[in-house]
Amino acid sequence: MIIVLKANTPKEEAKKLVDAIKAKGLQVDISKGARQTVMGLVGNTEVVDVEQIQSYECVDKVMRVEVPYKRASRAFHPQDSVIPVGNSGVTIGGKKLAVIAGPCSIETPDQIEGVAYDVAKAGANILRGGAFKPRTSPYSFQGLGNKGLDMLRDAGRKAKLPVITEIMSADKLPVFLEDGVDIIQIGARNMQNFDLLKAVGKTRKPVLLKRGLSATIEEWLMSAEYIMAEGNHNVILCERGIRTFETYTRNTLDLSAVLAVKRQSHLPIVVDPSHATGKRWMVADLAKAAVAAGADGLMIEVHNDPDRAWCDGAQSITPAMFADLMDSLRKLAPVVGREI
Ligand code: PEP
Ligand code: MN
Repeated sequence: MIIVLKANTPKEEAKKLVDAIKAKGLQVDISKGARQTVMGLVGNTEVVDVEQIQSYECVDKVMRVEVPYKRASRAFHPQDSVIPVGNSGVTIGGKKLAVIAGPCSIETPDQIEGVAYDVAKAGANILRGGAFKPRTSPYSFQGLGNKGLDMLRDAGRKAKLPVITEIMSADKLPVFLEDGVDIIQIGARNMQNFDLLKAVGKTRKPVLLKRGLSATIEEWLMSAEYIMAEGNHNVILCERGIRTFETYTRNTLDLSAVLAVKRQSHLPIVVDPSHATGKRWMVADLAKAAVAAGADGLMIEVHNDPDRAWCDGAQSITPAMFADLMDSLRKLAPVVGREI
């Protein structure tokens, strides 16, 4: 349920209302916009008498929210959320595009540093690199683990880029926090690992939540809700392709999800054309399509020597291809009302 307050409601009036709602055992999320203040009620709203709420002088409208997600919903928070990435000055959401780039996995200090400098020079805002890799085969390279985290942190510091990396289990959370990971990535395979979602929800670190391989948009937003229900509202969604009957591409990039998410939620959404297609030659054009469709940013796999990458080489672009893409995005962004 949401309550829209009349403009210029005195603080004391609003507080009286909040106290009355809390007394019924509900939680109240307040979202103050430029034009209106919205109160979102979470809990068993059956106990709320709409007529009684309506009788408060400060109340403009009362509406029941039809969707099962609350804090992730646009109704609860009409304005777009802009997520600050620590104190790096980088934000995700809003007018400026966020470009996350780097290799699938961290391999050596030289590799991650080299890519970090290259993507920073081309204009990326955030460095990616996996240290804990969710691989289909247990015999494939599983990532460098803690050593990889150190390499990523050092490379990020040198290139002056905040860093993002994937977490696979909650017991690694203390190491992620100590090691200065700026954004925690929840991979597609863990989108419904509810204990992991709750654990990252207890931190206040930005969390990039990838869409599950076969997840509906509603299931995906419910997973975001798990994180937000624990108090962490710094959630960024990432569309990375879904499983369909098509086998030409690794997955099928669902760009309509960008529009659906923007309508249903205030959370920023970025697009990962690398995992969506599995094909290097498709990445740049689909990155542009994603920006044209309204994505708030991109996640792109970039490798200094993709043909010899330890993971996902076929979908990784070279630093030169990435620099070309950034040039194109600089031309495209203003056409679709964005900055880069
Ligand atoms: C990744 O970003 O490295 C990754 C494993 O992606 P996904 O979870 O989308 O497959
Ligand atoms: Mn990958």
